[in-house]
Amino acid sequence: MALKNRVCSLKKLNIFQEVLKRIKDKSEIISLAVGDNPGPIAGSVIQDLVKEAQKFSTLEGHKGYPPEDGLNELKELINEIFYKGQFSLEEIFISDGIKTDLFRFQTLFGDEAKSSFFVPGYPTYKEGCQIIKSPTYPIYLDPHYGFQPDMNQLVPFDVFYLCSPNNPTGVALDEIEFKKIFDKAEEFGGIIVHDACYSPYIQTQKPKTIFFTPGAKKLAIELGSFSKWAAFSGIRLSWTVVPKEVKYQDGTSLLDAYTAFLNATYNGVSWLSQKMGISLLKNPNLFLNEITLTMQRVQKLKKAFVEAGYLVFGGEDCPYFLVKSEKDLLEKHQILTLPLESFDAQYKGFSRVSGFVSEKNLENVITRLQNSS
Ligand code: PLP
Repeated sequence: MALKNRVCSLKKLNIFQEVLKRIKDKSEIISLAVGDNPGPIAGSVIQDLVKEAQKFSTLEGHKGYPPEDGLNELKELINEIFYKGQFSLEEIFISDGIKTDLFRFQTLFGDEAKSSFFVPGYPTYKEGCQIIKSPTYPIYLDPHYGFQPDMNQLVPFDVFYLCSPNNPTGVALDEIEFKKIFDKAEEFGGIIVHDACYSPYIQTQKPKTIFFTPGAKKLAIELGSFSKWAAFSGIRLSWTVVPKEVKYQDGTSLLDAYTAFLNATYNGVSWLSQKMGISLLKNPNLFLNEITLTMQRVQKLKKAFVEAGYLVFGGEDCPYFLVKSEKDLLEKHQILTLPLESFDAQYKGFSRVSGFVSEKNLENVITRLQNSS
């Protein structure tokens, strides 16, 4: 019974299927609904993967369990590229995805932790808490304020799941907004779990990491992932930074607690995924160019929606933006987007547009929008 309530009730609103049923000719549909980078991954990274894989076919080259906290070479590259080398390697953990890491932390924090997050947001912040039956305090973003978070609305929390740039709103926080949430964390004695899944896409001067200021080191941890900007969602590779200064509300060092938790429950990420990550980070131009191209496509897409008369939010620092539409994007233009009501029923009339789109589909979408205006 308890399992049924906690887990089986997490049913998804399948609005896609419902809308698709109404469309007679599906061959014309272009999807801007999926938030997954179509790739491909650079050939040099795959060559390094193959070399590494071949070692496993020899007795001398075969390796067993990887270190559970990850390979130092990968940690060093992450530290240099994303954090200007400000962390020690013990504070960085390599993992198999932000989604699994979020649930690891939720499990670690336990069923008494008061968790808060912005809605609409990545569903695991809420659903993971629901599974372990910990109390949640959603803070709803207001379309009238352009889906910008209002930090004055925050209520006492032990843990705040923060995502900048946010999925699905595509909005990134500036330094002032980050500082406001740091003040709240200090006031409430809580910590911030920053999901930096889309941070490398930031194009403006907004912070790409919550650790842009040293003060954050006692208040926050950060989760990063190769899934989106490196097209590694099928490879599974991510990291978590847990600064040694962070203390949970009972005074425990989070770094000590997380290390013990991983020792007990985890055996590390595949050598092969990690070698691919190392190969990619050794040549940052491979992903920096892709990020630039993706964000150029997003800007073109956004412009086309604006010129077709739609109200648009976000998309400056993230491959997603929101469009105000009453499901008519599909019926009018045969463009499939992700209805925001699949995140929360109160956001009916808005859709998330994903800029992970091929050049060909981008041109087709622009033409359709131009012809309709
Ligand atoms: N966090 C956010 C905000 C996401 O949008 C997603 C995937 O869509 C994830 C985390 C999942 O990341 P990963 O592939 O590293 O598990």
